[in-house]
Amino acid sequence: MIGITVLGSTGSIGVSTLDVIAQHPEQYRAVALTANRNVERLFDQCVVHRPDYAVMSDAVAAEQLQQKIQTAGIETEVLSGMTGLEKVAVLPQCDQVMAAIVGAAGLLPTLTAARAGKRVLLANKEALVMSGHLFMDAVHEHGAELLPIDSEHNAIFQCMPEHFNGFEDGGIEQILLTGSGGPFRAVDSAELLDVTPDQACAHPNWVMGRKISVDSATMMNKGLELIEACWLFAVPPEKIQIVVHPQSIIHSMVEYIDGSVLAQMGSPDMRIPIAHAMAWPQRMSSGVERLNFFDVARLDFERPDDARFPCLRLARTVAEQGGTAAATLNAANEIAVEAFLDETLGFMDISEVIEATLADVSAHTVDSLAIVLQADAAAREVAKSHVERLKLI
Ligand code: NAD
Ligand code: MG
Repeated sequence: MIGITVLGSTGSIGVSTLDVIAQHPEQYRAVALTANRNVERLFDQCVVHRPDYAVMSDAVAAEQLQQKIQTAGIETEVLSGMTGLEKVAVLPQCDQVMAAIVGAAGLLPTLTAARAGKRVLLANKEALVMSGHLFMDAVHEHGAELLPIDSEHNAIFQCMPEHFNGFEDGGIEQILLTGSGGPFRAVDSAELLDVTPDQACAHPNWVMGRKISVDSATMMNKGLELIEACWLFAVPPEKIQIVVHPQSIIHSMVEYIDGSVLAQMGSPDMRIPIAHAMAWPQRMSSGVERLNFFDVARLDFERPDDARFPCLRLARTVAEQGGTAAATLNAANEIAVEAFLDETLGFMDISEVIEATLADVSAHTVDSLAIVLQADAAAREVAKSHVERLKLI
């Protein structure tokens, strides 16, 4: 029996993970579930999955969950806060940790899982973007296994040689990182000024949490993914080309020096990379609808437009720069997206806040976690001041 801790079990990736676990009850068991504040949903998940532990970030919410669990007579121990999250990331009965908390909040428990030598199923790209080589070093030093859940990175992983030993050894020319272009792919600059959170969250192909949906709309998601790919595959940013592919059937490609291009395809459903990463190096069913090529009929490709989507340019510059700039970019983006979702910041001002924050916060070499957390905290303060400056009335 393989035990899985699902960090962020009440979110979009968390729910898909529990769906895959439930399809294989003889092989997999959820040993711990965690949520930020959604007591009702975490309770329902405890009723179904009977985990050993349930963690709520908020202490008041944990108290409420505890009451409900006691009344229902369920034997799940309720914990709270960061200590609770870090505890369930290292449980002896936990073999795999699904890192599906959104944003910087997921960094510490995900890093803790890597340091405990677990198999880390990484959806929380922000954690890797922020901490970069610190995270990769922890994986290597502690014998952890890092399996990408982000559909593009999972696709790249699948298209890599079996024993990937670096770009040159593998005869790899470049990575083609695909993206749908988001809900505003064909919307002109003038119209982008007035788009609403609901329009930004209406992704054409994927159903996701609101933060990553806005990131897809600004294309910062592709920017974060560029940085994520640099770390995961030890590749410089110039070896990664972003290709807009509106149908989201190809999830990314790897081009070899002989001109071969390998692509991974499938329905746009996160249960495919989740099942792949859980079962790797084996395969198991995911419950996903089969791809029907006659229905798909055609695949289109376009160049990304940095002018309408400045976040792409900002992320590439940060990827080239290295150091704490990536933590700054990520933190500023989180603050700006939150303000946009609260309707206090305009859509095109998201990139404005990030660019201004990057200009104000100086970058340092990442030589400790403290430096990363300092950059994150400093960037949040500076970004808030820029949100204030650009605030909608
Ligand atoms: P979501 O908003 O649906 O879920 C987020 C989860 O994190 C929830 O369980 C929530 O309770 C928890 N959470 C939020 N803030 C927290 C905090 N401060 N402390 C502790 N827990 C907290 O998000 P999602 O769409 O499932 O995305 C999760 C992660 O996976 C993100 O990093 C995202 O970029 C990545 N990802 C998602 C998809 C997708 O299809 N949804 C695809 C690729 C990568
Ligand atoms: Mg992705």
